[in-house]
Amino acid sequence: MMNSKKIIQTLSKRQKIFYSTIFLLSLFLLYSAKSFSQQTITGLLYTDKKPVTITIKDGKIAGIKRVSKMLKGTQNYFVAPGMIDNQVNGYAGVSFTFLGGELTSEGVRKATEALWKDGVTTYIPTLTTSSNEVLKKNFTILGREKNNPELLGSIAGFHLEGPFISPLDGFRGAHPLRYVRKPDWNEFQELNKASGNNILEVTIAPETEGAMEFISKCKEAGIIVGLGHHNATTDIVNEAVNRGAVIATHFGNGCANMINRHINPLWPQLADDRLMISIIVDGFHLNPEEIRVFYKVKGTDKTIITSDVTSYSSLPPGKYLNSEGDTIELTTEGMLRYPAQGVLAGSASPLKKGVANVMKVTGCSMEEAFRMVTTNPARLYHLDDRGVLEVGKRADIILFQIVDNQLVIINTYVNGKLVYENKDLFKK
Ligand SMILES: [Zn+2]
Repeated sequence: MMNSKKIIQTLSKRQKIFYSTIFLLSLFLLYSAKSFSQQTITGLLYTDKKPVTITIKDGKIAGIKRVSKMLKGTQNYFVAPGMIDNQVNGYAGVSFTFLGGELTSEGVRKATEALWKDGVTTYIPTLTTSSNEVLKKNFTILGREKNNPELLGSIAGFHLEGPFISPLDGFRGAHPLRYVRKPDWNEFQELNKASGNNILEVTIAPETEGAMEFISKCKEAGIIVGLGHHNATTDIVNEAVNRGAVIATHFGNGCANMINRHINPLWPQLADDRLMISIIVDGFHLNPEEIRVFYKVKGTDKTIITSDVTSYSSLPPGKYLNSEGDTIELTTEGMLRYPAQGVLAGSASPLKKGVANVMKVTGCSMEEAFRMVTTNPARLYHLDDRGVLEVGKRADIILFQIVDNQLVIINTYVNGKLVYENKDLFKK
């Protein structure tokens, strides 16, 4: 009896040693793999244009260290946080609204990869005015894709622009009149549910019937309210802001060409310091002097540069048929227009163009320009894990050059993973 007990004890000790060794070895291997996966990026920091080396570990920024100089051949490489685009209607031939249920996982992936290539590491797919059926269907698909691990958390949530906007020509913009309707909280809740409760922002016209109650409900539910495609008076804008509206969507656009010079929706939105603005700085939607004035009034912290980009971005110049059967032309300069009328048909310019243009037009610094596409949208949508280069934040990082006043993306990292490498650049 005693002997057998001793044997068991001895065996247990051996087993203990064996398992301890295996455990320590595993820890060592795990640590080595992690150390191995650690990577570094060296570039001129976008804030002060001085060289730094950023260390990435487990998808996060593990360190930012000043270095004395840049490596040969990379002296003009800048490093900045990946851009955040808060209004993406589609990309690279993929539309988030108009496909009537044909939106697929592959389509969302294609759009995301094309955005990565253009330096956007986080985006907010934007669904515009359409039928309840199409919106519900596409929100369901996008809500599912938001959690697709292959997209690395690049979809932050969604923006619903319309259908609760002004039905008036000019203010309505390109939104189809037959689908414009009054704000309906029940419908909104239904759409939000379809998206997995991921709608971050809704852009509405505050002068429409029921809009004020709708804004209050959004505020209560933590949904950002944007004012857009509207013809609201000063009193209405004031009340909308009092109730919780925080941003004027693509300010200066979504407005009729002919407005009263004294009484129009632009002045009250510009005058109210509580209201942020988003602006499209693609060189076609606003004139340089408008951008300069808007920026002077609102300042860096209350301005977000958006692309409002459509599915025509990243496509070759030429003529296309839109979902309404109209001919649309993408010019070699990147302007998207109806050739018959010669008027804009939306945007096809990536956000990086807005960053370059805002520096050129306003004279703002690179740091300020990037703040308007990184820190500000991150703050507005409570994306606390991104929007700046800081230890502990997601390693959503871009490396780029400025060539002929345009951003040329060299590398894009999302959650620490290299998702885009500009091979053309290295061929030269
Ligand atoms: Zn719009």
